[in-house]
Amino acid sequence: MVHGLSPYVPGEQPKLQNLVKLNTNELPYGPSPRAIAAIQAAADDSLRLYPDPGASALRETLGRHYGVPADHVFVGNGSDEVLAHAFMGLLRHERPLWFPDISYSFYPVYCGLYGITSRSVPLADDFSIDPADYLPGEAGSAGAIILPNPNAPTGRALTRAEVERIVAGNPDAVVVIDEAYVDFGAESAVPLVAQYPNLLVVQTLSKSRGLAGLRVGYAIGQPALLEALDRVKNSFNSYPLDRLALAGAMAAIEDTDYLARTCQTVIDSRETLVAGLRQAGFEVLPSAANFVFARHPGRDAAALSAALRERGIIVRHFSRPRIDQFLRITVGTDAECRTLLDALAQILS
Ligand code: PMP
Repeated sequence: MVHGLSPYVPGEQPKLQNLVKLNTNELPYGPSPRAIAAIQAAADDSLRLYPDPGASALRETLGRHYGVPADHVFVGNGSDEVLAHAFMGLLRHERPLWFPDISYSFYPVYCGLYGITSRSVPLADDFSIDPADYLPGEAGSAGAIILPNPNAPTGRALTRAEVERIVAGNPDAVVVIDEAYVDFGAESAVPLVAQYPNLLVVQTLSKSRGLAGLRVGYAIGQPALLEALDRVKNSFNSYPLDRLALAGAMAAIEDTDYLARTCQTVIDSRETLVAGLRQAGFEVLPSAANFVFARHPGRDAAALSAALRERGIIVRHFSRPRIDQFLRITVGTDAECRTLLDALAQILS
């Protein structure tokens, strides 16, 4: 059976040192020092004991942070695992699962893995998502919907009102909003959860909290949806988070000042990077994420990516129709962005 699968190809994690690594949307800064201290403090004899399978302390911390009860929070080993559980437990339906034709490339992989039929909904000409395209109409109605907001790899975001239009317009379909990048300037759908039993919002500590290496993701939704995720989790991996991850995640969530500071720094660097890229002749899509999606009208994106690599700078290029002339560039430190812009100036001259 499985030989028919086409697995997801993750962004490269090169072994070489001293590269300017702008290819996988990690934070260019470390996590909150309080998270590191909490992980160190948790590394003691208690590691001989299993962790809390229900992660109740972390779920309470997340619930407090988002203003929802702890029974509205589900946690997993990175949002990829939470999403996988959602595909298996919630998104299979007689009618197809709808998602944008250009979005997170793990979605079609999960569909293949779990035998879910899907319909890819084309982005608008300006690479935005049009909420009207997700309402029941000529194309039928969705069995379920999943969207990243902001979208990846474009970086374009929907407003909360636009997300609400999709959720309210599909009362019989589960709608998953994948908010991996939401903290960098988009509006979260979490405040809609109390009102909409069909809405599940998925977030991660991998991006804005600088903890991709800890593998912690979570979903916020009403308990009836989370029960389906729990059933999958308990059939699959009843201890998704270890004691170190639980301790680090709680401290990271509680350090709201650190989150606000690092996100603002990234947003400021993004605006400088966008201005520099535009000055160098690139067309850059508006981004509400910690990456930008840019193309140069006169230059081949694959060749640009290769030329940057020769100079020790790694960005992401997707050889997919419609986006094969774009580069997805993670917002690094100001110094890394400067290095990238200097290299591009050399390459383009
Ligand atoms: N959703 C989107 C849109 C992403 O780009 C990523 C990161 N590749 C993830 C989810 C998964 O992130 P993680 O498993 O690290 O939480």
